[in-house]
Amino acid sequence: MANVVVIGGGLGGLPTAYELRHYLPKEHTVTLISDKAEFTFIPGLIRVALNLNSLDHIQLNLSQLTQRHGIKWVLGKVTALNPNTQQITVEDGQKIYYDYLAIAVGSSLAFDEIPGLGPHGGYTQSVCTPEHALEAKSAWLEFLENPGDLVVGAMPGAGCFAPAYEFVLMADQELRRHGIRDKVNISYITPEPYIGHTGVRGLTHAQELSEGLMAERGIKTIVNAQIVDIQADKILLADGSQFPFKYSMILPSHGGVKFLREAHGLTNEKGFIPVLPSQKHPDYPSIYALGTCVDLKQPEKTLLPIGLPKSGQMTEAMGVAVAHNIAVELGAIDAPLTQPTLEALCFAEYGNTGIAYIAAPVLPNPDTGKRRFAYAVRGRWVNWVKAAFEEYFLLKMRTGLGMPWFEKLGLRVLFGLSMLQSIPLKDKHQLGSST
Ligand SMILES: Cc1cc2nc3c(=O)[nH]c(=O)nc-3n(C[C@H](O)[C@H](O)[C@H](O)COP(=O)(O)OP(=O)(O)OC[C@H]3O[C@@H](n4cnc5c(N)ncnc54)[C@H](O)[C@@H]3O)c2cc1C
Repeated sequence: MANVVVIGGGLGGLPTAYELRHYLPKEHTVTLISDKAEFTFIPGLIRVALNLNSLDHIQLNLSQLTQRHGIKWVLGKVTALNPNTQQITVEDGQKIYYDYLAIAVGSSLAFDEIPGLGPHGGYTQSVCTPEHALEAKSAWLEFLENPGDLVVGAMPGAGCFAPAYEFVLMADQELRRHGIRDKVNISYITPEPYIGHTGVRGLTHAQELSEGLMAERGIKTIVNAQIVDIQADKILLADGSQFPFKYSMILPSHGGVKFLREAHGLTNEKGFIPVLPSQKHPDYPSIYALGTCVDLKQPEKTLLPIGLPKSGQMTEAMGVAVAHNIAVELGAIDAPLTQPTLEALCFAEYGNTGIAYIAAPVLPNPDTGKRRFAYAVRGRWVNWVKAAFEEYFLLKMRTGLGMPWFEKLGLRVLFGLSMLQSIPLKDKHQLGSST
């Protein structure tokens, strides 16, 4: 009887554990290991940082959830993985053997890339983890009392820009609500080649909508910006320009988590895990990976390096494919292997309006350079849908649902998106299946 282990209790790991539990008969064990006692709905952290929501509202207790839904729970940081002996070491010394492993540990944040970056001894804030969001909130409350210049942006190599746009535009809205917008100069500095690029070139209307919004709000924008140094009160770019700030939130670039980088032959040079279309590791047939720890390359050559956004929805679809394919390998279901299409929809809240980014798929066809469709659309409704989606996602996590059929149907009917596709049977061997 197999022990299927998921490492990481985040946006990818928890739904994957649920999908596995749903597919696999009780004789197989599903084990979830995470270094955090809570599941956090990460997209909600920007509202936490701007004091618009409490952290409690977007967190759930993993011990209770796993107990309720028949999943074995291990709280602890994984410090080592031996893919040859199929053994995981947890920080308390516990060794866990797996028959199949789904890695969903997210990525590490490269705050050490330049001096002064980030909340760990630096001068800028971050919204990437619950701890960062709380620290960003304390600083934000002080800033409201004593406002000055605000600088928001991202480092070269960052991949997910929508949170930076959300932060700067929601901050603008908050400053207006507090009646102090006229006391604050706001700048948005980004390595993107144009405003509204967000890591995915060619979304129809994304540039004009985003540029229009920044202009409407009086936010100064700097593209192709390479931050080289951050001092207590100013940010310096490679071209010599300087941006003074009283409050700054800069998204870092990402790399692989330490224990993955240390596991021989598991990752690429940046620490991301290569996968086959089935999400299986090309060299270790018992290992699958999903979410932001996966190696997904930015196909575009840009002046400064930028990553490809690995959104929550892409992560979830990868997790569904992982659970499905492990269930096929264990003989629990008789079906073709499946792969995520990486078609994605992202709702970004921008104060009193929002923009929905839709890319089908995010990665264009490598031969034609085209997608089925890709566009951005603006409206206040985006914020309502985003808020409703957050509640829906948390409800799913409470009730033990991964990605149910009605969600897939809704995405297809409302937005023309399909999340998964079967891998032709003839490709099964090439795709790394042992069946
Ligand atoms: C501020 C912000 C806003 C975002 N907004 C959106 C949005 O609006 N829409 C959208 O689609 N996407 C959004 N994203 C992206 C989305 O959050 C990610 O795609 C998603 O979180 C990736 O899921 P994951 O499971 O790969 O990683 P995570 O959700 O980061 O989960 C990783 C988990 O692994 C655990 N872990 C790490 N190391 C170890 C270890 N050594 N041992 C055990 N456990 C470990 C972590 O504690 C964590 O629980 C946003 C991202 C950020 C940072």
